[in-house]
Amino acid sequence: MEKVNSVDAKLAMADMVAGLKYPHYIKGSARRIPGNQKIRARVRCTKAGCGEEREVFTSDIFQTPFCISHQVEAKIKTKAEASVKKATEVKPIAKVG
Ligand SMILES: [Zn+2]
Repeated sequence: MEKVNSVDAKLAMADMVAGLKYPHYIKGSARRIPGNQKIRARVRCTKAGCGEEREVFTSDIFQTPFCISHQVEAKIKTKAEASVKKATEVKPIAKVG
């Protein structure tokens, strides 16, 4: 049997912590998933001019500053920058002999 409390302290705490730590977290959006110990929360994309909302687990808020499409975009950009950096890196020339 699941206890039903009028005040969910863990939920209230998660909401407060997320609100303090993450500017993209939408305050008051933390909610329980029935049958799951995890807490879901809504975040707002930090990409300028976007502001799209998505729901994530509170444990993922730190790594989800963007909506899904902007997250993909950011990932591709990071990957492209990394490969450009790698390609232009000057490698020490090994001496022969
Ligand atoms: Zn976005």
